[in-house]
Amino acid sequence: MTMLEVEGLSVSYGHVRAINDVSFSVKEGDLVSLIGANGAGKTTLLRAIMGGLLADAGSISLHGIPLGRSPVEERVRRGMYLVPEKRSLFNSMTVQDNLELGTYANRRQLNFAEEVKRIYSLFPILEERKLQLAGTLSGGQQQMVAIGRALIARPRVLLLDEPSIGLAPLVVQQIMDVIVQHKRQEGLTIVLVEQNARLALRAADHAYLIEIGKIVKDGAGDELANDPRLTEIYLGTS
Ligand code: ATP
Repeated sequence: MTMLEVEGLSVSYGHVRAINDVSFSVKEGDLVSLIGANGAGKTTLLRAIMGGLLADAGSISLHGIPLGRSPVEERVRRGMYLVPEKRSLFNSMTVQDNLELGTYANRRQLNFAEEVKRIYSLFPILEERKLQLAGTLSGGQQQMVAIGRALIARPRVLLLDEPSIGLAPLVVQQIMDVIVQHKRQEGLTIVLVEQNARLALRAADHAYLIEIGKIVKDGAGDELANDPRLTEIYLGTS
């Protein structure tokens, strides 16, 4: 079953078209990566899918139901959750309080104590730092809080905007392991936006390459990882 379907989507900032007639779909339980250079339009695409930006044209459907012009809150209620590049934590609130915010988006009204315990078992460092203010955490720890908060919301589709940016390889690996574990064990559907093409293709069931607001190529993760043109431009020649 298709979980997310984007058809003919176009999005502009004023007169500048940032996304131009983009179509792609994500099967339930798959991890789909959207890769592309700086400014290709990846963030814009995620914001439009989440309802934070209105599209000029096109449609987005979740599990076969068109989302129309529904606002972000409704999309969250229907099971979509975006972890933005800037993580949007509340810097002057503690780790634990930031995590608690995920329960407001949790459609099943689960018990916070149990949910937070689950997140602490995935990211033990967060339990050690649970009373620390989020703004004083390292970048990697902040990303763990942002992902943890998203997982507490128990979404059906998790949209991740450059989770690896600025983080040490070991932390990136830890975060990716948690994401992939949720895909495998819980059937979580994931849309991963990354400039780090190598990372994104390794994890992807299917991937799309975006250049200047358009999808120019798609294929299985390993297929794109071995594409000579992609290797040269996005993966380095080494
Ligand atoms: P990055 O990896 O650098 O975040 P990206 O692929 O996510 O890049 P976007 O941030 O979606 O790209 O930007 C796509 C295009 O839209 C760029 O040309 C950018 O300058 C432009 N753009 C993005 N946000 C705005 C905005 N608020 N107002 C005007 N133009 C914008």
